[in-house]
Amino acid sequence: MSQLSKKEIVESVPQKGFFGHPKGLFSLFFTEFWERFSYYGMRAILVFYMYYEVSKGGLGIDQGTALAIVSLYGSLVYMSGVIGGWLADRVFGTSRSVFFGGIFIMLGHIVLSFPGGLGMLFFSMALIVIGTGLLKPNVSSMVGDIYPAGDNRQDAGFSIFYMGINLGSFIAPLTAGTIGTEYNFHLGFSVAAFGMFLGLVMFVVTKKKNLGLAGTYVANPLSPAEKKKTIKIVGIAVIILAILVAIAIPTGYLTLNSFTALVGILGFAIPAAYFIVMYRSPKTTSDEKSRVLAYIPLFLAAVMFWSIAEQGSTILALYADKRTNLDFLGIHISPAWFQSLNPLFIIIFAPVFAWLWVKLGDRQPSIPHKFSLGLLFAGISFIVILLPGVLSGTDALVSPIWLALSIFTLVLGELCISPVGLSATTKLAPAAFTAQTMSLWFLSNAAAQALNAQLVKLYSADTEMLYFGIIGGVAIVLSIVVFFISPIISRYMKGVH
Ligand code: GLU
Ligand code: ASP
Repeated sequence: MSQLSKKEIVESVPQKGFFGHPKGLFSLFFTEFWERFSYYGMRAILVFYMYYEVSKGGLGIDQGTALAIVSLYGSLVYMSGVIGGWLADRVFGTSRSVFFGGIFIMLGHIVLSFPGGLGMLFFSMALIVIGTGLLKPNVSSMVGDIYPAGDNRQDAGFSIFYMGINLGSFIAPLTAGTIGTEYNFHLGFSVAAFGMFLGLVMFVVTKKKNLGLAGTYVANPLSPAEKKKTIKIVGIAVIILAILVAIAIPTGYLTLNSFTALVGILGFAIPAAYFIVMYRSPKTTSDEKSRVLAYIPLFLAAVMFWSIAEQGSTILALYADKRTNLDFLGIHISPAWFQSLNPLFIIIFAPVFAWLWVKLGDRQPSIPHKFSLGLLFAGISFIVILLPGVLSGTDALVSPIWLALSIFTLVLGELCISPVGLSATTKLAPAAFTAQTMSLWFLSNAAAQALNAQLVKLYSADTEMLYFGIIGGVAIVLSIVVFFISPIISRYMKGVH
């Protein structure tokens, strides 16, 4: 039970002051801007850092292994949102969770700022996984907290916030990415750390004035009995895990392959468990049960979509490095810069799509149709990047325009799925589970990257065309399937549009 009413919280937040939006949006916007800056700054160079030779400042890891590790890391970053969301809801409240999360993330990047081996990299990743789980779902849900119920500025507020995400992601490869690839990887990681530091300062300095009581309460605090039980369960789980790890390492069971398999299972088992619990909960009404069923194919479509989208920082990064002519119009391009294109296109075209949906009004595609369109564009984006191989073989260097065109096509899809997905999750999840919708949506990305950890190993110069062709083809086929079952999904959505 919340001790503070929605009214008290909203009244404590200055309702004007940031483009006609509550002042708190300013704080949340820049906190998430810097958090995404640090995340995508690291991601812009991570795969290069791992497979570049030691003489070039990298770790010299095998390419396939590097690609798989980046995917696993991405999967865990979004999976940990489940724990971060739960901790905010039951223990810390969202504001403190965001603060703790920022500290962990900053420490993670600081660890990487110093030269070290694979052990240091894994340690840094663990810190960032914990930190992002605490920060990302909670900073997003705070956006919902600062508006009065039914305020029609809220949707626009989320769109502005989404711009913040992509502005941070746009600048990161150009700064941390350039410094990392052109000068020194560790210097690049330290830029990411500095970004998170600025985000934290911003949050701490402005939160009292701008966010008032928002996020300061624990929505559903643990009762003393629950607290005892939780401590016991967590204690036992930690001991079992420690024993398993202690046995698995010396006996050679804990390998990258077994860990990848484990994350692969968790990536799908966790959302499946969510669906079962939501469906079977006595608090879920029969209409809500129907909506849970409608959500499942949309969730799977999102998994396929993110699988392709997230390969922007793995397979397409490799493609930028190895297959692309990086001297273009007299400029030397850093392979990291291509990761700025996705957010750049989003910043440019998100307002166009928003305008289009308003203009189409009732004639705009339904939610399932938008998911189908999103998948279609994602599939086509892989067909686009397959073409240079068909036209000039897989040995020659190709024009960077191909990558730009592929990423542009993907973004058309991202704009059909990403902004819609979160609000669809909110509308389709049963009321008793609203605190977890943010993490539930991020689980589609976690599952996708868990899947990618398996897929990316299949990519090589020899399999390039087959790789893009099969994955792109599967996405297109799924898009058609979703298109045809859209009327059924819509019916199961019971009035949600
Ligand atoms: N690019 C998005 C972000 O970083 C992806 C998150 C999602 O899975 O919705 O916020
Ligand atoms: N478009 C991604 C997201 O919405 C950002 C990126 O790919 O860099 O945050």
